[in-house]
Amino acid sequence: MRHAFVILVTALAVIGSLVPAAPAADRIRVVTTIPDLKALTDEVGGDLVEVESLARGTQNAHELEIRPSLMLKLRRADLLIENGLELDSWAEVAVQGANNPKIVRGAPGRVDASRGIQVLDVPATRVDRSMGDVHPHGNPHYSLDPGLAPIITENIVDGLARFAPERRQVFEKNRQAFLARLDEAMARWSRALEPLKGAKVVVYHPQWIYVLNRFGLIQAATLEDRPGIPASPAHLTRVIRQMKEERIRVIIVEPWNDVKLATRVAEEAGAKAVVLASMVGGVKGADSYIGAIDHNVNALAQALR
Ligand SMILES: [Zn+2]
Repeated sequence: MRHAFVILVTALAVIGSLVPAAPAADRIRVVTTIPDLKALTDEVGGDLVEVESLARGTQNAHELEIRPSLMLKLRRADLLIENGLELDSWAEVAVQGANNPKIVRGAPGRVDASRGIQVLDVPATRVDRSMGDVHPHGNPHYSLDPGLAPIITENIVDGLARFAPERRQVFEKNRQAFLARLDEAMARWSRALEPLKGAKVVVYHPQWIYVLNRFGLIQAATLEDRPGIPASPAHLTRVIRQMKEERIRVIIVEPWNDVKLATRVAEEAGAKAVVLASMVGGVKGADSYIGAIDHNVNALAQALR
């Protein structure tokens, strides 16, 4: 029996030396607010990190119910990576409940992934959440624009390296390998959407402006009156008329929107409602960063063809 135990331990030691994975206890424990940031952190962190996302891909990331399970995740986190631009301001409530000084605002373990992003849709006049507008500092939905992944992953590498400076080169090497794969995918996406440049789409919620701009598509209208404010009948009537006049054939819908409403509007306008992955994991098959964009580009190209 004892002999068998020694063999087992030896075998485990051999396996351990062959597999470079860091033991779970040594991994940097990262919590991200949204799954896109988890996907990108997994890419640059590899097996040196253990990453959990507070929101799931099908959820509305503006409004997340703070359950005790979320606070527990934050309590043991070394790093909290947030989207910023007020998309995930609910994280602040969860952090206060988690009582973890490593990730309070201003601590080295708090990472704002939006640092350095050129923000679009910044309101010309002052708006705030009391007016119901959920984009008071501009459009916060930059994370699935592949052209911004270099900036986002740079912020993530900086955050990880503050925690583990001796690993910076490993993180940076992982990042470069990921960006090389992303470049290849980008060539594919650009080819698929190139013939559709200038095409107009209507969006349910203004979630897509970074991606649409990136590929030369135009957001003609939103179904919501304002970001986060439900569509009024008068507004919908105007949008339907505009869609007919301008021959707009697609309404982009997020999984958490009122898909039935979007479908009805699309039918009246002679168009199609297309559900895209608003975050990684938002629809079936969109389970990685590149996979989610693959899904969205293919679905868009097909609907606009
Ligand atoms: Zn939004």
